[in-house]
Amino acid sequence: MRVFKFGGASVKDADGIKNVYDVLQKVGFEDVLLVVSAMGKTTNALEEVIKNYFEKSAELNSSVQEVKKYHNQIVMDLFEDEKNEVFAAINAQFSDLEYFLAHNKSPNYNFVYDQIVSYGELISTTILSHFMSFMGIQTQWVDVRNLIKTDANYRDAELDWSLTQTNISKNIKRKILNITQGFLGSDENNFTTTLGREGSDYTAAIFAYCLNAESVTIWKDVPGVMNADPRYFENASLLNQISYREAIELAFYGATVIHPKTLQPLQKKEIPLYVKSFINPLLKGTSVAKGVDLEPYLPCFIVKRNQLLISLSSIDFSFIMEENISEIFGLFHQFKLKVNLIQNSAISFSVCVEDKFDNFNALNALLSKKFKVDFSENVTLYTIRHFNDQAAQTVEENKTVLLKQVSRETMQVVIKEN
Ligand code: ADP
Ligand code: ASP
Ligand code: MG
Repeated sequence: MRVFKFGGASVKDADGIKNVYDVLQKVGFEDVLLVVSAMGKTTNALEEVIKNYFEKSAELNSSVQEVKKYHNQIVMDLFEDEKNEVFAAINAQFSDLEYFLAHNKSPNYNFVYDQIVSYGELISTTILSHFMSFMGIQTQWVDVRNLIKTDANYRDAELDWSLTQTNISKNIKRKILNITQGFLGSDENNFTTTLGREGSDYTAAIFAYCLNAESVTIWKDVPGVMNADPRYFENASLLNQISYREAIELAFYGATVIHPKTLQPLQKKEIPLYVKSFINPLLKGTSVAKGVDLEPYLPCFIVKRNQLLISLSSIDFSFIMEENISEIFGLFHQFKLKVNLIQNSAISFSVCVEDKFDNFNALNALLSKKFKVDFSENVTLYTIRHFNDQAAQTVEENKTVLLKQVSRETMQVVIKEN
């Protein structure tokens, strides 16, 4: 079986959906499982709905209507005939969403987030699956929440591999086209959970692992994994073949083209990962497999924006020792700040972190009781794998470097963009 993942960019409008059909015609769809994300920027739009639900109820209805309008337009463009069952199916899903918004009693933001944001994937897969049937392809629509079981850590749920394995083995039919949602799962009470933003690549890897798939292909709006994000670097070039290890490093440092959790399950079973263009599906793209890095390495650039550089020093000029460091990290973990770089000196301790959940102010209040806290907001972390002087210069030129760290293969700099 092959597992294909189509992300938001590939299904952002009616032409995108038609293109998925064309891709399947070209590369085959027998014995395939499609993992599909929410359409375009729907997850962001649903995040607005959630914000309004908690903070700006006057704008709640209009934000829901916007999501509805966007999907209705796609459905109209695809099917024209309003008698097609897809219209009723999509309406039913929006009614469920509105019912939840009207009746929910839980004040738990993260719980509510997952119950709402999941409609993005539920609706996109419903549309896609109806379109495939409409075009004459027999499909099985699978509610992934019945298969992927997780803990109840909403918005960042941890997989229960053993239950998930059993469910997937039992429920995925071979020989036909299966269509399911990325990013979603459910907890032991069957409430919806999510695996973290951009988690659909990971879903594809989970299925591939549990099905002993022949390969995973993630279809992207770029030709494959490149040595830099082509949105920010004009001369980015395609990496034809990389090892799991190199791909893990790139994803870990923030090359967003592959979600970092995707690679380990695949590596464990040596299932190859192909990253290909949904615009040119017959081109080779990038193949990620066992131990095949092309030498010499090209310098690879990874950019993480919107970082926070925090420097802590002791109030009494004493050294920052193990016990302080362990306490500091305990707090970062508790407040869900993701640490991307650490640098330690005699009396100060600096970290570059990502504050995805807007918790820094609360954390700072605690830290300031014990340490002198300096911080710079909105800084950028550049990572260069296989750096050389010229690559370093590209990044540093005309910029204010706040911190720099160099190891054998990797250079990282924190920069205040001027
Ligand atoms: P999806 O539609 O699956 O969610 P993403 O938007 O998450 O796709 O990933 C594709 C994007 O990743 C590209 O449009 C590109 O801007 C970005 N990207 C970041 N780093 C790289 C890289 N090293 N190579 C290719 N694309 C990259
Ligand atoms: N739709 C989710 C997101 O945008 C998951 C994904 O696309 O991978 O984060
Ligand atoms: Mg994405």
